[in-house]
Amino acid sequence: MRRFILLILFIYLNNHFYAQNDFDLLKRAKSLTAKLSVEQKIAQTCQVTLDALLKTDANGQVIKPIEINPKKCEKLIEQQQIGSVLNVSSHTLDRATWNNLLNTIHSAYKNGKTVAPVLYGVDAIHGANYVVGGTLFPQEIGLAATWNPSLANKMGEITAYETRASGVPWNFSPVLDLGRQPLWSRFFETLGEDPLLASKMGVELVKGYQGTNPAESTRVAACMKHFVGYSLPRSGRDRTPAWIPERLMHELYLPSFKAAVDAGALTVMINSGDVNGTPGHINKYLITDLLKNKWAFKGLAVSDWEDIRMLHTVHKVAATQKDAIIMAINAGLDMSMVPYNGPHEEYLNLFKEAVSEKKISMKRLNDAVTRIIYVKLKLGLYEKQLTPWNDYSKFGSDEFKKEAKNAALESITLLKNENEVLPLKKSEKILLVGEAADNLIFHNGAWTHTWQGEDTSFNTKGAMTFRASLGKEFGQNLMFEKGYDLSSVNGWEACKIENKEKVLQNAAQADKIIICLGEMPATEKPGDVKSLNLCEEQQELVKALQETGKPVILVLLFGKPHIIREIEPKSAAILNAYLPGDMGGDALTEVLLGKVNPSGKLPYTFPKHDGVIEYYDYVNSESKTNKLDAKPIDPQWPFGFGMSYTSYSYSNLKIENLGGTKFKASVDVKNTGPKAGKEVVQWYITDEYASITPANKKLRHYEKISLEPGQSKNLVFTIDSKDLQFVNSTNQWTTEPGEFTLKVGDQSVGFLLK
Ligand code: BGC
Repeated sequence: MRRFILLILFIYLNNHFYAQNDFDLLKRAKSLTAKLSVEQKIAQTCQVTLDALLKTDANGQVIKPIEINPKKCEKLIEQQQIGSVLNVSSHTLDRATWNNLLNTIHSAYKNGKTVAPVLYGVDAIHGANYVVGGTLFPQEIGLAATWNPSLANKMGEITAYETRASGVPWNFSPVLDLGRQPLWSRFFETLGEDPLLASKMGVELVKGYQGTNPAESTRVAACMKHFVGYSLPRSGRDRTPAWIPERLMHELYLPSFKAAVDAGALTVMINSGDVNGTPGHINKYLITDLLKNKWAFKGLAVSDWEDIRMLHTVHKVAATQKDAIIMAINAGLDMSMVPYNGPHEEYLNLFKEAVSEKKISMKRLNDAVTRIIYVKLKLGLYEKQLTPWNDYSKFGSDEFKKEAKNAALESITLLKNENEVLPLKKSEKILLVGEAADNLIFHNGAWTHTWQGEDTSFNTKGAMTFRASLGKEFGQNLMFEKGYDLSSVNGWEACKIENKEKVLQNAAQADKIIICLGEMPATEKPGDVKSLNLCEEQQELVKALQETGKPVILVLLFGKPHIIREIEPKSAAILNAYLPGDMGGDALTEVLLGKVNPSGKLPYTFPKHDGVIEYYDYVNSESKTNKLDAKPIDPQWPFGFGMSYTSYSYSNLKIENLGGTKFKASVDVKNTGPKAGKEVVQWYITDEYASITPANKKLRHYEKISLEPGQSKNLVFTIDSKDLQFVNSTNQWTTEPGEFTLKVGDQSVGFLLK
């Protein structure tokens, strides 16, 4: 009892200390803001790209290896007092260079030449992907497939450590947009289609990045991206309009952001596209009324790349650049990623005019600057010297790589395994086919060492490709053929078959054939695609190999799902590895050999037909058809699906009412097969009748558990009103009495809410 009281006291004092600390920081941020001139305040809201500070050649191109141009630095940082700098041009730097750059930028503040330290931000979205030797994790879509929040926390923690090791305190991650438009080039950056899964994993990424004290030299500020609705472009193309009814906005697209705000995320980046005709950057309702006022978000809102300018040049909602600034800042934007040199001066001048014309109030400007300074204080930038890069002894360590491998291992999703063709035996002769197996760029995807990730020159030294890793295990028993060649032609992915005869000759020698299918790494507009179909050449190769009669195993290195309807039926086994990162090759090998039992589950509905988009939470009318030869809902594989080398049984599902809207449900899950494994126990609830057409089912709770062969566990799900609610026609979360059905595994039970 005494221990319990002490624990409560500790938690109370801890929370009180942080609340107090936060209150003091806000007070300090306000008073620091009050000391600044209008020009200095405006400069705090301005973010330029690192290129703006670098030496360039006569054509304005950045000279490599990059070097700070002291004159530019003096002008932008010391004279103009720019508040923030971002990213790195299209290459990767070692820690020492990063640290040097950051030290040079920070020295202006240290030497008393600026009113505030510069806040530097970077996209370290699957590990410290712009630092030589950084630990590269799976991209978020793979992370989501693990359904394991503790892995998200670890990924956040390690990424933060390695990002701070390069001196950078701010990470433009996580992406909290839902993956509901598979054509979108950034689908791989999402945590999948479900708001609960995205919230749970997103919250842990935020906690991993920030820890309990983001000022620590191993933590960074998280940035929730991209607020909100960016991920559903109707055309599929990046930064094109989304149409999302407000009701669905609340039910699907906002919850992951709300959860991250509640977890203390310090910054947010605004959606570059427009939703229902309103560009994200002028949406006052979303940025100010909802995020800042209703949700009490205290941090800063940064624009996306050049997005204030684009209100004038692209979206055409602002007749002039000045109007664009006025509209965005008044909507609640705090910092503008301008990002280039030159336009940033125009931004500073026009902003100043807008303030003197009283089109932007001092109150709004003070609020924006207070938020920026609050984040800088939270990160300890005012007090701290940069920790020397070589103090980070765990950077790129085996310990970190092991965690990245764990994430890759748990992401791998077994989609098919006929006649137990997997696991492989080391005595078998294997033919491995596919360029994607032989180059790390296909394991990592975009945002790896360069923006588009297609440059092979920065591939991590010592990291094993899938081919190398499999070769280590199979030695002479492994044959490899490239089979196809992927490239970019005029910005579109192109594929050529290579040496088909040789591939088939080798196939004749093999016991089993693994063909690794892949896609060119790409993101944002360069990653736009015309179709989800897997390129014909890769399909043709698979079909030719299937005709040999040998068992063909497909390994998918896909950031987005590609249509494989025609090659699935004759494939003996299929593994989805998403974009597993540098440790993906090793992870795939261990799963193929059965050293690790696969436990990934699809974080999205895998489509069967190009152009037919289906989600697991479809409504009843979508499940009707008058075609006799087709199922109405017919994905290749459903959301949440993933097999194992063992089997699980579900039994004894029970539910009891604990009074009011509280219920206790329980189920027994048993490992009925020969191997230890991990199972994701997914609890779905169907609201049978509601005032808004109800979803077929909604994921309301899940747990990933480990079970030894023969072991059984009793799992409990305590249901309360939040697990029964939906957003009604007036956009309010509500619960309605009536019939519900609870589903878990193959069990289901009805219950009544009175
Ligand atoms: C992307 C953001 C990214 C930013 C900075 C933009 O083009 O949309 O996700 O954080 O660039 O690199």
